[in-house]
Parts: sequence; structure tokens; C-alpha cells
Amino acid sequence: MGRQLSYSAAVGEGAKIEKQLSRRAFLGRASGAAVSTSAQRLVELSPLGTVFPAEIAADKPAGRIVDMHVHFDEKKPGFLDELLTLADRMNLTACLLTPFAQRRVVADAAKQHPRQIVPFGFIDMDAPDVVRQVEELHSLGFRGLGELEFVKKPYNDPSYFPVYELANRYGWLVLFHTGIVLRKNFDEPEDVASGRMRPIYLEEIARRFPKITVVGAHCGNPEYEWAAEIARWNPNVFFDLSGSTLTKMRGRLADFQRIFWWSALNWSVKTPDNDPNAFIKLVFGSDTDLSGVESVVSQYRALFDACDIPERTRKMIMGGTLTKLLGLPE
Ligand SMILES: [Zn+2]
Repeated sequence: MGRQLSYSAAVGEGAKIEKQLSRRAFLGRASGAAVSTSAQRLVELSPLGTVFPAEIAADKPAGRIVDMHVHFDEKKPGFLDELLTLADRMNLTACLLTPFAQRRVVADAAKQHPRQIVPFGFIDMDAPDVVRQVEELHSLGFRGLGELEFVKKPYNDPSYFPVYELANRYGWLVLFHTGIVLRKNFDEPEDVASGRMRPIYLEEIARRFPKITVVGAHCGNPEYEWAAEIARWNPNVFFDLSGSTLTKMRGRLADFQRIFWWSALNWSVKTPDNDPNAFIKLVFGSDTDLSGVESVVSQYRALFDACDIPERTRKMIMGGTLTKLLGLPE
């Protein structure tokens, strides 16, 4: 499978849904009417309101956001400029999942804008020279790998261990696609299987390579229970909730309390900020094009409200945990 298919497919799960629902309808479903009232007020007060009407108001964050899941869009001219504008407006840092071919331009941008861009290497795990690619990414200042996906073997296949050994030595974060993956080609045979990307495989990687911070994208959709249980026992495992999950479950978000169930039990596993709340195992990830990031912020907030997640934990999910793990500049 070529890189190109791999890339467009990666953005697909989230982006496709965005296209199906109009942006406004999507926002409305995710955040509800209360937000638009205060949003309206902000629009009236803000001199930028005329430039960015609904966006700036509806989703103006209270604190820093670190987005674990931003795909570099190589087909979009001016992508980096647009990202920097969004980053300043939203107080956002993007972990930028960068195809190997774009490694230099993103490494340079990250050096110039360390508060806005954290470079991650989007590599093909089955490429014959993958180890050399990883070493080069490290020498360029990359901070991790991802989104790993479309693997030809399950993630815990020993043939992938040389990559994990390097990531472990570097103390990197590695973002893995987990769960269902879209199908792009309906007419041609393809060597793609969600079954190789199940969240259960991340447990073995987290245990064998304890200096890797393992981040599973999409919380294993639909294997949320396995994802959560692995995160519960492994201090170096986290998940993002990008993709279709928060749309699929928008009417029953409180169900997540049954999946992340151990908040009250003072679990004896180390967590960021020693936070006992089970939801501390989530991090923010958008996996949309840049115009959709704020919608996903609204979806996360709807989840926070539905599950009574305390303010302290919300801040860690939205950015605090990744700020600490990556040692980001203030
Ligand atoms: Zn994915």
C-alpha cells in the first residue's frame, strides 16, 4: 500500500463524517444550544468576531490545547501557515503527523515555532528501510512516531521490534491507529485489516518497551473496553477519542463512565498529576482537517459534561498531560 493511500485514509475516518454533516449542524449536535448563546456574546465583544464569526466564539478555549492527532496535509498549499494561525487563535499545540517526504520542512517549522508544532514521523512500518528512517527523524529533532497504521502484520509482530527499540531508546511517544479503519478502494483488492490494529496489541508494546508512551488513536473503536483496561494498568498508555466515536455515541456519552469506571477507587497506578480520575487516560486528538478541530473540541466538552469529569482532569486531557510528557515550552 502506497503512502498516498495510507495518508488520505488516515484523515478519512474523521474527515468523512465532517463532510456528511454540515459544519454548523455538526457543531450544534456536539455542543448544544448553551454554547451558542455565550458564543454570540463573544462575537459581539470580539473585534475578530467579524473575521471568524462562529468559530472564535463557540470554541474559544479556556486553557492550552495540545492536539495529539493532526495530519500534515501535503496536498494543501499554505497548510503550515494556516496551522500557525489556528494555533495562535486556539492556544493550540499540534503534534504534526508528518509523511517522511515532508520531514525537513516540518523539522524547520517546529524549530521556529516550538510552541505550536511538535514533529511526529508518519512512517510505513513495513518499508524495508524503516529503521534508517526512524534514525533520521530522530536526528532532525522529531519527538515521536505516528500515526502508525495499515500495517501488514499485527502491531506486536516481532519484525516491528527494531522500530520500537529505537523509540524506547529515544523515550518517544508513538501514536497507533486502533480499531476500525475506512475502506478507500472498493474495486481493487487491498491488504488492509482492522484486526491487525486492535488495541490489545498495544499492551505488549507498552510492557516490552516501558520508555515508549503508547497513544492509541480512536480508543480502539469499537473495542473501548479493551482500550480502557489496558490504559488502566499501564502508566505509559493513553488514548485519543478522535474519529467517529463521539459522533456515534453523542446521545449516550455517559456510557463512557462504564468503560472508564475506576475513578473512585484510588487506583495504584501512576497517572499524570497523580489524578485519580479514570478519564485521565484520555488525551485530546482531532484527526480532522484544520477547519474541524474546534468541532472536536466541542465534542470532547460534551463528553466531559456527560461524564461529570472534574475541571482538573479536563485540563489534563485537553493539554496538560501531553505538555508534561513532551516537556513543551510554556
Ligand atoms: Zn487513525
